Amino acid sequence: MKNPYGLKDGKLVLVDSVERGLMCGCLCPACKEPLEAHKGKIKTHHFKHHNGSDCGCGLETAIHLLAKSIIKNEKVILLPSLMAPPDWSQLKYLETQYLDNKPFPDHLMFKELVPAWYKLRVDEVLLEKRMGHIIPDLIAVTKGKQLFIEIKVTHGIDDKKLEFIEENELSVVEYDFSEMQDMIDYNHIKRVLTESYKGATKGRGLGRWVNHIGLQKAIEEVTENMKIHYPDKTLKKNWEQTQLQLDC
Ligand SMILES: [Zn+2]
Repeated sequence: MKNPYGLKDGKLVLVDSVERGLMCGCLCPACKEPLEAHKGKIKTHHFKHHNGSDCGCGLETAIHLLAKSIIKNEKVILLPSLMAPPDWSQLKYLETQYLDNKPFPDHLMFKELVPAWYKLRVDEVLLEKRMGHIIPDLIAVTKGKQLFIEIKVTHGIDDKKLEFIEENELSVVEYDFSEMQDMIDYNHIKRVLTESYKGATKGRGLGRWVNHIGLQKAIEEVTENMKIHYPDKTLKKNWEQTQLQLDC
């Protein structure tokens, strides 16, 4: 993907708003090296590093900066919905029943952790702030609680980051902008992050929960509830036998 964003006087600017070549006076948003504005007739207008070596992170950093300023201005972020399912490995005895008839009502099968179209109020947004061994793209702070926001452009979350997220039970949402073929559009990012998902598909801003601080507990609750409503009859038999023995 070609990068249409440069930093001029500390602000992000689009290639079309500046002069050609080195006269643009722009720096790479990531490595801060001077950029040249390429504004030919055939290729999409874009910036190139003047020294010829591309750090490869200019567009990614530009999108992080855009996302940060959008969330900061709007003071909300639209979250993907999240439903906790039961842990089926503990409910294997129900598998055939489930596959045959689908008899379980939704309110027993799932616990809603984040409703659809939920907008989280954000008090503060932090950009690329180190947390232990990792650097989340953005951190949204709400009433002192932190939500990590990952913006996928060229690289998604690597194993090291995922391990840290799981070990430290952090809440993380990832928005995927990896397949935006054309220029990254400020309004599209704004719509996806703060307004609605219309137009957001995989690779064009769709969000997903990588981890949620309450997910494990909710899974356990749903599983226990399923066990109460649909008890394992073989277990019940064993339990009755134990009770009988205890009574004697
Ligand atoms: Zn660079």
